[in-house]
Amino acid sequence: MSLVVQKYGGSSVAEAASVKRVARRIAQYRRAGHEVVVVVSAMGDTTDDLIDLAERVTPTPPARELDMLLTAGERISMALLAMAISDLGLEARSFTGSQAGVITDSAHGRARIIDVTPGRIRTALDDGAIAIVAGFQGVSQTTKDITTLGRGGSDTTAVALAAALDADVCEIYTDVDGVFTADPRIVPAAQHIPVITPEEMLEMAASGAKILHARCVEYARRYSVPLHVRSSFSTNTGTIVAEVDRVGFPISFNEMYLPSKSNQEPAMDTEASLEAPLISGVAHDRSQAKITVAGVPDIPGKAAGVFQAVAKAEANIDMIVQNVAVGQTTRTDISFTLPAADLAATMAALEAARGEVGYSELFADNKIGKLSLVGAGMRSHPGVSAKLFSALSEAGVNIEMISTSEIRVSVVTRADVLDDAVRAVHHAFDLDSTEGEAIVYGGTGR
Ligand code: ADP
Ligand code: ASP
Ligand code: MG
Repeated sequence: MSLVVQKYGGSSVAEAASVKRVARRIAQYRRAGHEVVVVVSAMGDTTDDLIDLAERVTPTPPARELDMLLTAGERISMALLAMAISDLGLEARSFTGSQAGVITDSAHGRARIIDVTPGRIRTALDDGAIAIVAGFQGVSQTTKDITTLGRGGSDTTAVALAAALDADVCEIYTDVDGVFTADPRIVPAAQHIPVITPEEMLEMAASGAKILHARCVEYARRYSVPLHVRSSFSTNTGTIVAEVDRVGFPISFNEMYLPSKSNQEPAMDTEASLEAPLISGVAHDRSQAKITVAGVPDIPGKAAGVFQAVAKAEANIDMIVQNVAVGQTTRTDISFTLPAADLAATMAALEAARGEVGYSELFADNKIGKLSLVGAGMRSHPGVSAKLFSALSEAGVNIEMISTSEIRVSVVTRADVLDDAVRAVHHAFDLDSTEGEAIVYGGTGR
């Protein structure tokens, strides 16, 4: 018997019929003798709809109340799923994040998990029940208020519970057959990746590949939780996120829990994996914005002044570029990217610091896109950036900013050419599949 944590995303439980379909899948695992903890997201686009609803009431909802509202989405799906399971003759008990012991800090909308005390979940399992937990939510240790973990945060709930319960595996069920070399909604020729290392997966997720919440990958790596991403609409093998041995086989990954091992394809083609691939994939991110602070005096302390103001707005800065402004040798321009959701607060903080920093103008731009090429094999291949830039130029895409890490190159483009850019780069690095189009089973891609 093993302990399995399964997370079902919103597209897997979009309607009553899908709730029942997922319940049957869960029941199959329980009947095979496994202990099962299920983490569930809000149905379909419920979270987006609730945000829209709040914005129709007020453009600036208090963060505490917005969290209270949004967590209602997961409550609906957890209760319905427990009902559907009980209809199949098995016992299921649903728990809110707070009841499941997900303790967070008090940063509403982006709370971090600081402890997990799953006593009630353990008791439910000991009683033979299936535990259903509302994803994406917790309770603040200090204020006792209900918090959310940020968009896509149910993945992190699942991994945190898997770590706290010492689960054998954490399965993330979604609407595609695992991780691909690009978002299959944009690149139909994207290739399925059978095994990906936590390092590469983290870089993909942090670069915007929303198949997994970046913090979930971080958490899984830190606590050595085996992660398995798969579709809830098929029985295909999905993607294993794990360290690999010299020939590309996942290390320390217990496959015993798989219900029908005979149906499984080998995790990876040994012949093909003898050499690490150069590129693991192309990620894109549409949720970023750009601020340019123009005419900043070119003297020590001014960049610090700009970023102190930004820090006050608690924005997470990604790329930073500083240039000497043309024709003015004593002033520079500083541009940086940040989550579009933090744009207004950051602009306000910079406006307030105008006198102190002494810059001349401020520009906000929320029509940008970010494309990132990720691959551990890049380390030893110096030509990657050059090839990326020529692929973009051939596609007529202008590059506005560039940043690199050891295993990633990212560029900022106009938002309206981002999809074309992703397809062009995917093609230029020979990532296109020869085995037909990737299947997207559900979801709206919202
Ligand atoms: P869920 O509701 O199950 O959490 P999400 O919409 O958050 O699902 O994540 C799944 C989606 O992630 C897919 O439908 C796909 O459009 C998108 N995606 C982005 N990048 C990738 C990638 N590299 N591989 C697979 N899917 C990706
Ligand atoms: N329902 C939340 C969201 O849409 C959390 C999640 O799906 O992971 O972001
Ligand atoms: Mg998600």
